[in-house]
Amino acid sequence: MNKVRAWIEKRGFCVAPGAFHAVDVESHTVFLKEEASRGAALTLALHECGHMSIYSERARFPKRSVAGASLRQFLASQRKTAAERLAIVEEEFEAWRRGEEIGKSLGIRLPPAKLRRRVKASCLRSHVAWCTRTRLQPRKRHGSVGRR
Ligand SMILES: [Zn+2]
Repeated sequence: MNKVRAWIEKRGFCVAPGAFHAVDVESHTVFLKEEASRGAALTLALHECGHMSIYSERARFPKRSVAGASLRQFLASQRKTAAERLAIVEEEFEAWRRGEEIGKSLGIRLPPAKLRRRVKASCLRSHVAWCTRTRLQPRKRHGSVGRR
């Protein structure tokens, strides 16, 4: 966990305890919730590093954004459109992928694959459910935007 913390701090972010796991790009803080096991804590911390990696890339290429931006904006996400929600889910998958890569690059011993898969599935499941739960706006026909 110390190596993960160092990775975060080296990039100008600080680590703070939180009610849930999140990266706040406005205050440059990675919030980490207390977890029952060290393995789950490490898995989730690496996932947040994955989000940081996406954010730093977005800062350099703002037009190539993956999804939401700040924590404040994310918390307002109930009002997001279906496309924006899907972009957030897409970012979640990407953050999991990058988190694993960062863990490997740090040379730390990752928790057992079974545990990592379980933590990942549990998080992705709630994001996907959130994405599909709400009533969607009637779909506009493709190509109808801006005509007539
Ligand atoms: Zn996430």
